[in-house]
This record gives sequence, structure tokens and C-alpha cells, in this order.
Amino acid sequence: MTAFDDELAIEAWEGRLAPLLDAHGAAVIAALRGGTARPPWPAALRTPAVARLAARHDPVWAARARTLARWSLAARLAAAPPMIAAHAAPATAAGLAIRHRALVACAPAMGCADAAALVHALFGAPLAPAASPELDDDDAAPPAPAAALPGWPAVRAALADHAGVDPAAVRVCDDGRAAATVLTTAGAVCVFPPVGDLASLTVAAHELGHGVYAAALAGLPLGLAAAPSRAVDEAIAAWAVRALEELLPPAWAVVARWRRRRGERARARLARCEHAALVLGHADAWARAVGPWRPALAAAVLAEPGIAAAYAAADAWALAPARGEIAAWGQRGAAWAPAGLA
Ligand SMILES: [Zn+2]
Repeated sequence: MTAFDDELAIEAWEGRLAPLLDAHGAAVIAALRGGTARPPWPAALRTPAVARLAARHDPVWAARARTLARWSLAARLAAAPPMIAAHAAPATAAGLAIRHRALVACAPAMGCADAAALVHALFGAPLAPAASPELDDDDAAPPAPAAALPGWPAVRAALADHAGVDPAAVRVCDDGRAAATVLTTAGAVCVFPPVGDLASLTVAAHELGHGVYAAALAGLPLGLAAAPSRAVDEAIAAWAVRALEELLPPAWAVVARWRRRRGERARARLARCEHAALVLGHADAWARAVGPWRPALAAAVLAEPGIAAAYAAADAWALAPARGEIAAWGQRGAAWAPAGLA
């Protein structure tokens, strides 16, 4: 294949997949709002040729190919019988251990040397024991202040303004049963539950972080107009949560910071657990490393085995975009690592 053949193949697959992914995205939005299970990936993504797309002559074409190959890998893994069986296991530590074992078992069939390589190819974060801000987990929560929280519209406007993105470019559905952000060729859509307190405002800010970045990517070729690596995408969402603290009255900012630090510690601990389970083969890692089981802190991990490293890396990178910088990052398209944003 010549370089031109590579480009033609990438463009042909982008053209074929775009309407399928748009329909998939619409179904994901409906599932998030309706509280139902997410739809499976389009079957066409599992075509082996999609996983083999590559371009060695140009980094932008290589990024387009890499995004399509990453989606293909996710679709093939989700359709692998051991993973389907493992996802039927309950959302508990025991069920997660089953999913971790399935991930390890599936790696060779996915063309990956081991579970660490598979997780890196899926999510863009190295499966390494995360450095953790080791603070006492039992420090008491600051009391809830009497002051009013800012309203969601004001928070939305301020975050979009800092990102350099028109707030109207991000459609918001604040009637979700679950939270996620979806980008289709029709635009970026954030779904999250109604905002009524600091916890729900934090979820909304996190999703808007994804949303402003997605909006900045809109209009690029399909392989570039995608959340780059999941870890980079979560790092931008984590920025929005830190930025929220600056929009709150001081007494609420203290509470928000305490909650964020608690979350960062939990995510670092979950990443260490995941590393122990997937790389070191310690089946009891969760019981030893997480301590008292708090499912709410681990909901994403329970649903997506291997994702903890991406969240921990996102926290550790602590991106601090200057005003307008997120819009500029988006316009350059799919970055695989923070260095690719520069
Ligand atoms: Zn997120």
C-alpha cells in the first residue's frame, strides 16, 4: 500500500462509519436519559480492516487511523464472549475480579501482548501504580455552608467562556439518569442528572469539560473529531471540576476541594488496585487496597475494567488550560497524550 492508498482507506472507512456512529451516539443519549443499558458498538467497527488502518507518512493521518483502530478494538473486546460473560457478573468487587480476569484472557486475541498493552491501547493511560496524594482518608468533611451555590447556567457560561467555546455549541440534557458526553457529526451533547446540590453540580461541570472539548473538535474529519485518548479527555473534564472551585463562594470552595481531594485519593487507590489485579495477578487486590468498599466511588471502574489508570492519570496530569486554550486544543484534533495538546 502506498501512502495515498492508506489515506483513501482511512477516508473510505470514516465515510462508512460516520452515519453508524451518529446513530450509535443518538442511541447512547437516549439510554443515558432513559436509564437503560447502552447500545452495542456498530458491528462494522469489528471489521478486521478497521483495526489494521494505519498511516506512517503523516502524523495527522496516523491520528485518524489510530482513532478508528481504537474504536475497533473497543468494539471487538466488547463482543468477545469472555467479556460478555464477565459483564454479566454483578457490580461488586467479586464481579470486577471476574472482568479483570476476562480482560487478561482476551488480550492476546486482541493482538496485545498483555492486559497492560490492551488497556493502554483502549484508554491511553499506562497501567502503572499511580502516585497518590496520601492524605488521611478520615479527615472530616467541612460543614455545608449556608451560602447559596451558583446556578448551573452561570457555571456553564463561565466554563465555556474560559474554554473559548460558544456555550450554545454544547447541547445539555440535564434530565439524565446517568452522565456522559457524546459527540456526533450533529454536535456535542452532555447528559447528566438534574443539578440541585454540589455533587450534581460537580458532575455537570465534569461533563461540560468533556462537552467544550468535544465542541471544539466538531467539524474535523471523523478520526480527528473524537475524544483522543480517554485519559486526555478525562483530564480536561477534571480541569472543569477544579475550575468549578474558583466559581464557588469561598465556604463552598472549601467543601468542593475536600470532595475533589477525596475523589483523587480514591481514584489513585483504584488505579493501584487495578495494576495489582491486571499486571501482578493479585486477585485479592481490591479487598486489600480499597479498604471499605464504596461502590459510588468506583462506579466507572465497575463498568469499565481497566479504566482506573486513565482517571488517575487525568488527575495526576492536572491540566491547567489558559483561557481559550481548550478551543485551540480541539481544533488541532485527536491528541493521544498531553504532549500532543501543545
Ligand atoms: Zn468523564
